[in-house]
Amino acid sequence: MKLVLASNNPHKAAEFARVLAPLGYEVISQKDAGADLEVEETGTTFEENARLKAEAVYRLTELPTVADDSGLAVDALGGAPGVYSARYAGPDATDADRNQKLLRELENVPPEQRTAQFVCVLYYIDENGQGHTLRGECPGVIGYGPRGSNGFGYDPIFMVGNQSFSELSPAEKDAISHRGRALEQLERLLQNK
Ligand code: IMP
Repeated sequence: MKLVLASNNPHKAAEFARVLAPLGYEVISQKDAGADLEVEETGTTFEENARLKAEAVYRLTELPTVADDSGLAVDALGGAPGVYSARYAGPDATDADRNQKLLRELENVPPEQRTAQFVCVLYYIDENGQGHTLRGECPGVIGYGPRGSNGFGYDPIFMVGNQSFSELSPAEKDAISHRGRALEQLERLLQNK
């Protein structure tokens, strides 16, 4: 069965295909399914944004569709950058700029108050047009400088135990990450269909 990924990100497409192909799903990009659009993320929660993206693509394709929205919520910053994680340091900033900004914001914050969660919400619309929300979280701590070279985004400053996400292999990260956990739930949902 075809499953449309409501995203223009090829890295996400590969990640979803890895998990869903063994279940008999052919993951196709929204563009290949005829929905060549960029949905504006106007929601204030991960749930709202994932749903906005999935519904826009489902309206055009009428095929089972999944969208994800993710980000980093830092407790000492009241959950920021949260849904604004990709835009935290302005539209032209790099991952390194965003990491530096976050480290500056936490300059005087002691270790025990540097807790954070990566969050990933999936919104899946099944072949009957019914929506399902799945949420994965991964707790950690914001470090004091970038470490490691794998991954992307905030991975170099997100510590789990004494390693940053960037120091883990992709398989090690998938096993505990917010996206890995949300995908596990999607896998279970699809298996039970
Ligand atoms: P979006 O889900 O494509 O809107 O991206 C959200 C943003 O959150 C990304 O641009 C990253 O900055 C951050 N983010 C989400 N997941 C991860 C992750 O697994 N590692 C590092 N940063 C992430």
